[in-house]
Amino acid sequence: MKIAVDGPAGAGKSTIARLVAKQLGLRYVDTGAMYRAVTLVALRQGVDMDDEDALLRVATSMDLNIVFQGQRGNVIYLDGQDVTGLIRQPDVTANVSTVSTHKKVRDFIVALQDQIGRQGSVVMDGRDIGTVVMPDADWKIFLQATVEERARRRQQELQRKGVVVDIKDLQEQIRTRDHLDSTRENSPLRKAEDAIEIDTTSLSISEVVEKVLDLIQGEAETCTRS
Ligand code: C5P
Repeated sequence: MKIAVDGPAGAGKSTIARLVAKQLGLRYVDTGAMYRAVTLVALRQGVDMDDEDALLRVATSMDLNIVFQGQRGNVIYLDGQDVTGLIRQPDVTANVSTVSTHKKVRDFIVALQDQIGRQGSVVMDGRDIGTVVMPDADWKIFLQATVEERARRRQQELQRKGVVVDIKDLQEQIRTRDHLDSTRENSPLRKAEDAIEIDTTSLSISEVVEKVLDLIQGEAETCTRS
């Protein structure tokens, strides 16, 4: 079974996809982590975020290993070092949407994701999974939430790590990332025509997981297929 989970930044994709995968006993792949890993290495090497060829060289030469570890979701290793936390640092987040606009980088990363998809049942989350990476997925879920709610969730997540950030700044960052991700030329963030959209704004994590599992188990009630 192949399940694609797409949506904008902060809509809850990775949490939901990880929990659904756990419930169904499937592999889970966080595709955003791959773009983030390229961005981290590019930042470390001082590569220009507009230099497509240099970014492709970073992508093709990095030693990336994604390990599925149940509760922790995906653990990301670069040259043997666990960078799962580092790839979520603000400087990576601020640059990743520029890195992911480049066609050569995307083609390389999508080919890796395609290989993973061919290896069997999987839940994959990202921006273009239902449209480009796994257009043949059995289930396509598109998660949405208001910018205000997504910023609020991000603020809470950061607060738990002891980081204090202004909510307006977070909203602005999310709007910028949404804009870059949905207006880029190459496989932009877009709901697949056969995707099921779930607005998670006023739902808890377990309510969303339940909805997705109900859908997959054929008990769709409140979601709209469009
Ligand atoms: O999901 P996450 O926020 O970690 O993704 C980081 C960035 O990677 C996104 O904002 C987007 O620019 C890029 N991305 C993408 N295609 C995917 C997954 C992520 O372009 N399938």
